[in-house]
Amino acid sequence: MKKYNTPLIDELEKGPWPSFVTEMKKAAKNNEMSNDALGHLEKCFSTKVGYWKHGGIVGVLGYGGGVIGRYSELGDEFPGVAHFHTVRINQPSGFFYTSKALREICDIWDKYGSGLTNVHGSTGDLVLLGTKTEALEAIFAEYSSRGWDLGGSGSALRTPSCCIGPGRCEWSNYDTLGLTYALTQEFQDEIHRPTFSYKFKIKSAGCACDCVASIARADMSIIGTWKGDIQIDQAEVQNYAKSGMDINAEIVGMCPTQCMSYDGKALKINNAECSRCMHCIAKMTKALRPGGERGATICIGSKAPIVVGSLLSWVIVPFIKVEEPYTELKELIRNIWDWWDENAKPRERIGEVIEMKGMRSFLEAIGVPPMPQQIKEPRKDPFMFYKEEDIAAYKAKEAEEKKTGKYKF
Ligand code: SF4
Repeated sequence: MKKYNTPLIDELEKGPWPSFVTEMKKAAKNNEMSNDALGHLEKCFSTKVGYWKHGGIVGVLGYGGGVIGRYSELGDEFPGVAHFHTVRINQPSGFFYTSKALREICDIWDKYGSGLTNVHGSTGDLVLLGTKTEALEAIFAEYSSRGWDLGGSGSALRTPSCCIGPGRCEWSNYDTLGLTYALTQEFQDEIHRPTFSYKFKIKSAGCACDCVASIARADMSIIGTWKGDIQIDQAEVQNYAKSGMDINAEIVGMCPTQCMSYDGKALKINNAECSRCMHCIAKMTKALRPGGERGATICIGSKAPIVVGSLLSWVIVPFIKVEEPYTELKELIRNIWDWWDENAKPRERIGEVIEMKGMRSFLEAIGVPPMPQQIKEPRKDPFMFYKEEDIAAYKAKEAEEKKTGKYKF
C-alpha cells in the first residue's frame, strides 16, 4: 500500500481530545480504502478543495434509500476512494447494543468497506463510511440476514430516534424506546421508499431535558411531559440545602417562569405557571418528581438552515397519552404528511411550509383544535381562530344564560 505523508492532518492529532485522524490511521494499516481516504484528506487540506462529488443514484434492490452515493474527482490518484458510499444501518431504539452486535457490524464492514464508522450520525443511524458500488448488494445481504436493516435517507422518513428513556432514566414520562420501535415498524415503506417532498425526522425524548435535541433537529418532536403538580419531598430539599446547594440562586432564580419560592424552610411551586422545563427536577432529583398523568407534548417543524433559516419546533398538541398501540399518534402523523404532501414544493420541510401557509390552515387540515399553548415562543399570540358558527353558538349560549339568570359579565 502507498504510504502518504500527512503533515497537515497530523496537526489534528495534537491536543487533549481523541482524534479521528488517529483512528483513520489505525484503519489504514490494513485497508486500502482508508489509506487512500487519508491521502485524499491531506490533499483536500493542502489544496483547500473538497473533490467529493455528492449524490448519484446508488442503493440496493427494493430500497430507495439507505445508501448515500459519494464519489471523488480524484479516483485515478486515489482509487480506494473513487467510490466511497455511505451505508446507514437502522440503530436500535436508544442506541443500546451488545458488544457482540457491534463486533458483528464491524466484521461485516471490514470485509466490504473502509472499516470506518460514524457512531452515530445526527440522523440517528449507525453510519458506515466508504464502500464501492459493486459491494452494496453483498453488504445488504449479510446485514439483513443477521436481522439488521438499512435506515432512511433522501426525501423519506428518516430513521426515528429517541433518548434512552425508561431503559436507564427514571424521569422518562413515556416509553420512548417502545414508541420509536413501533413507529419504525409502522412506517417501513416511508423509511425505505422516498416519496416525500423532502426529509422528515421524528425524534422522541422522555422529558424536556431532551437528550436527543428533538426540539431543534426533528420535524416532529415528541417530548415527555406530565399533567399535575410536581411532587416535593421537603426533607430532601433540606438535605440539598445542608449539603451546600444555594436553592434560591440555583433553583428558584433559574426557574424560567419564576413560579418557585423558598424561604429557607419550604420550597413552593405555583404549578399553574410551571412550563415543565425540568430544570428544578434535574437539579434536585431526590427532592422533586413529576406528578399526575404522564404523556408527551408534540411539537412540529424544526430544522437546520438549508432552504430558509433554522427553525425550532412549535407546540401543536400540548398533551397526548403515549401508550400502545399509539393509534392516535400514528393517525396524527399520517394527517400531517397528507397536508405536507398537498402543500410543499420539492425540498421544503414541513416547518417552512407552515411558515408560508400559516399554522391556522395547518391545524385545521390535520384536525387539531386551536389551543392557547400553540405558540411559537413564550408571550406570543396563540393561533386562536373562530368561525361564524362558533360566534353564533356563543351568542346563543349567552342569550340562554341571560334568560335563566346565569349570565355573568
Ligand atoms: Fe420552574 Fe421548570 Fe421547575 Fe417548572 S419544571 S417549576 S418551570 S424550573
